Amino acid sequence: MTKNVIKDVVIVGGGTAGWISAAVIQRLLGATVSVNLIESEDIGTVGVGEATIPPITLLNNMLGIDEKAFIRETNATMKLAIRFENWRVNGEQYYHTFGAPGKSFAFCQFHHYFKRAQQLGLEDSLWDYDLNYLACEAGKFAHIASPDPIIEMPYAYHFDASLYARFLRKKCEQMGVTRTEGIITSVQQNADSGYIDSVTLKDGKKISGDLFVDCSGFRGLLIQQTLNTGYEDWSHWLPCDRAVAMPSERHEKTSPFTRSIAHTAGWQWRIPLQHRNGNGLVYSSHHYTDDQALDILSSNLETAPIGDPKYIHFRTGRRRKQWHKNVIAVGLSGGFLEPLESTSIHLIQSAVVRLVHLFPHDGIKQKQIEEYNKQSQMEFEQIRDFIILHYHVNERNDSQFWKDVRNMEVPESLMHKIELFTASGNLFRAQNDLFLESSWLQVLMGQGVKAGDYHPLANGMSEKKLFELMASIKKIKNEPVGKLASHDDFLREYCRLQRP
Ligand SMILES: Cc1cc2nc3c(=O)[nH]c(=O)nc-3n(C[C@H](O)[C@H](O)[C@H](O)COP(=O)(O)OP(=O)(O)OC[C@H]3O[C@@H](n4cnc5c(N)ncnc54)[C@H](O)[C@@H]3O)c2cc1C
Repeated sequence: MTKNVIKDVVIVGGGTAGWISAAVIQRLLGATVSVNLIESEDIGTVGVGEATIPPITLLNNMLGIDEKAFIRETNATMKLAIRFENWRVNGEQYYHTFGAPGKSFAFCQFHHYFKRAQQLGLEDSLWDYDLNYLACEAGKFAHIASPDPIIEMPYAYHFDASLYARFLRKKCEQMGVTRTEGIITSVQQNADSGYIDSVTLKDGKKISGDLFVDCSGFRGLLIQQTLNTGYEDWSHWLPCDRAVAMPSERHEKTSPFTRSIAHTAGWQWRIPLQHRNGNGLVYSSHHYTDDQALDILSSNLETAPIGDPKYIHFRTGRRRKQWHKNVIAVGLSGGFLEPLESTSIHLIQSAVVRLVHLFPHDGIKQKQIEEYNKQSQMEFEQIRDFIILHYHVNERNDSQFWKDVRNMEVPESLMHKIELFTASGNLFRAQNDLFLESSWLQVLMGQGVKAGDYHPLANGMSEKKLFELMASIKKIKNEPVGKLASHDDFLREYCRLQRP
């Protein structure tokens, strides 16, 4: 144990990571610690990060955020899925929805029954049994509260990243977080322990703390530039290393899903917001120059651009230790995985919740650090595998990029999962994996990977009964869709928005 009671928490950075960290720590630990956030408007934030996944609703609830105010103030829309276009082959698309196709049975997953039914002549697609998909295709949304999980419709949001940071800042300041504006120019460490004692701003002001949360973005001001913690590079598996982002005018109708459109050496996101579309191209700088990337993005916008392009460089991987000495790296300072599955904001949420669980109230203990780092590593690696899957199991032959990612060696953990599925149809969620079996199933099948077999338990009913079961699940999934409002009507009525 090396530091005494933790009273003063200093958060370095006021992007999404900084403000989420401040809000969670203040809300849950504010009775015993003070929270001081330092940010610099001159440096600014990364300014992207607009699509989320369902656990964000838990974060908002925990912070006591009113959903209607949140949607209004961040220009948010609802998100039920990501539509992947051109990923397996050009011209084809599939959805990864937040729902679950079919119904979960106690001992035998739905996809085994589905596979047997297919072998017996069923012509439906997996997604015909998924309420989220059906609502996406119909452009509809509603909150569906049902005690029966078969008709749940899990959702997340798209929002304007800078409005979200502003929204959280207001919330944090109401809760008692102190904000300090200024550029940190030097960092003071304890001569014996190497722990950070304080940071000094350009105007000479010194801010001391017991625990520092490094939310300074890619630069990793404390975790890397000061403590030199090191970085595990995953770019041999995920070769995209740049993005160009450019907003465009909104579509007349907003869709309740993100689009991810594969190109010859990367992919494009399209995120519908109330006031504009968020767009960007994630690409490999070994295959496209920046100008080529901008050309591809510009010619695939669909609506008129309304801002200048912004280029972002990144290196996929993770900080070797997310927690080192008295510094915890949260957000981009802790590592980066491209936004293909919108996981970065979730990683922030999960990192700060983990910190709360392991909070060193009466002094930092090495075992807490080890546990924190072990859990972080597992989480990063599981998401990494899921993202690699999208690239690796492609059937595109139109560029060297797609051939290379198809032929590359992938992590053993991912290989095992793919081989198990192709051998037997078995699919298991690894311990604490963010992505459930239904997510893996949709991406595997969407990318054209076929289950090798189905479980014999699916033979436990006659053919007639099996087809009756499929028909009844399909009916249950389809029934709510007709009653849902259009996505735009939902936003207008639920949040009393003025827009058409
Ligand atoms: C192209 C791209 C697309 C993305 N899309 C998504 C998405 O759809 N969904 C998703 O979940 N995530 C997405 N992300 C990730 C998401 O943008 C980040 O996780 C999120 O914005 C958090 O960033 P941050 O707060 O860690 O860093 P930043 O936003 O960079 O904030 C860093 C902060 O540190 C401050 N700072 C730095 N140095 C100093 C200093 N010396 N003194 C004082 N202050 C300092 C800055 O002023 C700023 O306030 C995307 C990322 C990229 C690159």
